[in-house]
Amino acid sequence: MKKIAVLTSGGDSPGMNAAVRAVTRKAIYHGIEVYGVYNGYQGLLQDKIEKLELGSVGDTIQRGGTFLRSARCPEFKDKEVRKQAIENLYKRGIEALVVIGGDGSYRGAQRLNEEGIKTIAVPGTIDNDINGTDFTIGFDTALNTIIDTVDKIRDTASSHERTFIIEVMGRDAGDLALWAGLAGGAETILIPEEKVQIEHIAERIQKGIERGKKHSVIIVAEGVMSANECSQELKKYINVDTRESVLGHMQRGGAPTGVDRVLASRLGAYAVELLMNNESGYAVGIKSNHLSKTTFDEVFKEAHQIDHKLYQLSEELSI
Ligand code: ATP
Repeated sequence: MKKIAVLTSGGDSPGMNAAVRAVTRKAIYHGIEVYGVYNGYQGLLQDKIEKLELGSVGDTIQRGGTFLRSARCPEFKDKEVRKQAIENLYKRGIEALVVIGGDGSYRGAQRLNEEGIKTIAVPGTIDNDINGTDFTIGFDTALNTIIDTVDKIRDTASSHERTFIIEVMGRDAGDLALWAGLAGGAETILIPEEKVQIEHIAERIQKGIERGKKHSVIIVAEGVMSANECSQELKKYINVDTRESVLGHMQRGGAPTGVDRVLASRLGAYAVELLMNNESGYAVGIKSNHLSKTTFDEVFKEAHQIDHKLYQLSEELSI
């Protein structure tokens, strides 16, 4: 293995830079040349590939986003289109690729691996929705960003005796909402994986009011409904003063937490280690604080699950 490439793809997440840095430095440390692909799979097709030196990744570990930039590239699903991407790597003598991204990016990585590029995928998404790892790079940072806001909203919620509905990211995955709700002491958490009757939530808020609660916080994952819809639904059952807050893209920004930087460094370096051992076709991850590798087939075998015990705990603690 003499030359490898690295790219970031899909939605960006804090810590992607730290992962690119780890891939680059680990490879160079072992005498391997590293090439950065700009704009994800789109850049791979458009030949936006540049050699990375030790200094190329200097001063990036603390930065959010991804200096390699990211893009969505729907046409990458087409095998004929991917031939151009493979050609762009081959013509430079690049045999292997590290893809940092979410589950969509993993699909592209799996295809490339089948089609001749030794590929390893690294979980970079705030959603924490990828099988084969307990945590994805960016989740901890996004979680802390949300908690910060929830804490602030709680201050004003109690001053005005209001019910706040906070909409967080998560189209199909409820991890962010669940963890943020638990950590932020939310009374109700609405996630795509658990069906809850609005009537039941209204009853709970009513009981809270009766026992003298000053405010209530509801965290809703965007995949369930919008904060506004949630408010409208709630008002069908109970007369409460509600305010909605949609956190939006701020959840994807910001400097990565220490936890995300360390995770990204470990996973990026591990990806290179596998390639050096001539192993490919894996997604790397962390399980019970140990580095792990999972085949793409295994990753896609079943849908990602939330930790149901954590959900149960949130129910028990928010009575
Ligand atoms: P996130 O969910 O965190 O936003 P993601 O990696 O899942 O990240 P997607 O937009 O789903 O984001 O996928 C990123 C890119 O991966 C797509 O734009 C496309 O180029 C590629 N991709 C997705 N699915 C496939 C597939 N089935 N085959 C080949 N490439 C794919």
